[in-house]
Amino acid sequence: MGRKVQRIWPKHLQTVGEMLRQNVDVFAHCPKCQTDFEVDLETLAILYTGHYSLIGRHGKCKRRGCGGRVFFNARIHTVFVPLLEEK
Ligand SMILES: [Zn+2]
Repeated sequence: MGRKVQRIWPKHLQTVGEMLRQNVDVFAHCPKCQTDFEVDLETLAILYTGHYSLIGRHGKCKRRGCGGRVFFNARIHTVFVPLLEEK
């Protein structure tokens, strides 16, 4: 009760570099305007290095005037995994 269980993430989802190596498809989703955005992992790896992690990270929605915050999802075959830290 009240004990925090840290989720153990599979290695191929932990960093941008591993997601690239394993060809994991990643997109960002804005819960406010329900829009999905493409995520360019190669650009992220260049900007932040391959050690960068998208888990628990949020970004600004790119849709003009929305002001929402996106979170990241990985798509593995037909399974979608939200890259969110459990609270
Ligand atoms: Zn939005």
